[in-house]
Amino acid sequence: MKYYIKKILSLGINDTMDLSDQARLNIINASAILAIVNTLLNIIAYFSFAGEHAYMMGAVSLICIGFIVTTLVLNKYGYIKLAVNIMMIASMFCVFYISRFYLGPDYGFQRYFLIFGIVPTVFLSAKENITKTIYVIFNLLIYGYIENWSYDYRLSMDTMYYSENIAHFFNYITIIVGFVVIIAMLRIYQYIISREEAGLKKALEEAEHKSKYDHLTNLMNRRYMMEVLENKHNNSSKSGICCGVLMMDIDNFKGVNDEYGHPVGDKVLIDVSKTILNVLDNRGKAARWGGEEFLVLLDSCEATICSEIAEEIRSNVELLGTLGERKITISIGVACPSGKDDISEILKNADKNLYEAKARGKNRVVSS
Ligand code: GH3
Ligand code: MG
Ligand code: MG
Repeated sequence: MKYYIKKILSLGINDTMDLSDQARLNIINASAILAIVNTLLNIIAYFSFAGEHAYMMGAVSLICIGFIVTTLVLNKYGYIKLAVNIMMIASMFCVFYISRFYLGPDYGFQRYFLIFGIVPTVFLSAKENITKTIYVIFNLLIYGYIENWSYDYRLSMDTMYYSENIAHFFNYITIIVGFVVIIAMLRIYQYIISREEAGLKKALEEAEHKSKYDHLTNLMNRRYMMEVLENKHNNSSKSGICCGVLMMDIDNFKGVNDEYGHPVGDKVLIDVSKTILNVLDNRGKAARWGGEEFLVLLDSCEATICSEIAEEIRSNVELLGTLGERKITISIGVACPSGKDDISEILKNADKNLYEAKARGKNRVVSS
């Protein structure tokens, strides 16, 4: 049941529509469903009190339901404007006919001009202000016309089926229907907004992730690592900053690309990144600093620990194996801050040591 209601509520809706159009369609579909249910219940009621008149009133109501169903079909195929117009005219015709020729104002049916005539109109697009105004004024006029019209004016003057109790009963029902329709519309609106909010939040999280992490290796990107380093610097104590930095660069990587192609090079970058993360195991953060360069920020600033972790990374990368004759290796420059160093100084030291590691034959760790 819930599935079918959801399905009808979303008739004509597709993901390319903007939020307000989706909301509009939801609301128009919802008011169509409520109008159909309400009209069906009314038909049952006519047979309980209106005697032979019930047939005519029921027939008119059925025609009205036919038009409202057409509305849903039109919505499904994207003729929203036409659909809303048909729904307005159909429900206006039905309510006007029944209250003008049979019930008079006591049954409160004229309230449907306000409920089904005006509430959905509010959700017509902002561009249709003239149509909206015409409908609202027209509905208000007919509402006023019937409301202020004594039942002496009913066409069928016999009052055989008129009972004050029944009239009062229906009067209350129309008020309840009014509340139900308005609450339903607001609930749907709330649902659409919360759904959109969830979508936006997810998109925002994805965008944030993309802006912080490297798409190939899923390591932090250079910008995000820089941000982390600067925060670390800003929050450092008077005694100075404590962070071990490892600057690393895959050895002879250009040769891997040249010999095996870029996709294989990418695979090596991914494998090396995973190795770095595995070795680190929450002892620090890793970023892709450039093409085949990585930067690790360690929680510890103790020289021996930094060198040990660096050596662990180097040896684990070596264990990745060979590509043909080629061994995958990495050179690492370690910098452990001497208290008062600033970030650029630390990075410069790490870089200098990396250069030294390359100069001494690669696949090694050099510490200050
Ligand atoms: P060295 O041992 O001195 O570091 O030599 P190298 O060949 O590793 O250094 P070089 O700077 O000459 O080459 C780096 C290569 O990294 C060049 C570039 O094509 C490659 N590279 C950079 N980014 C990517 C990437 O995203 N994917 C792949 N497959 N290759 C990349
Ligand atoms: Mg390089
Ligand atoms: Mg290199």
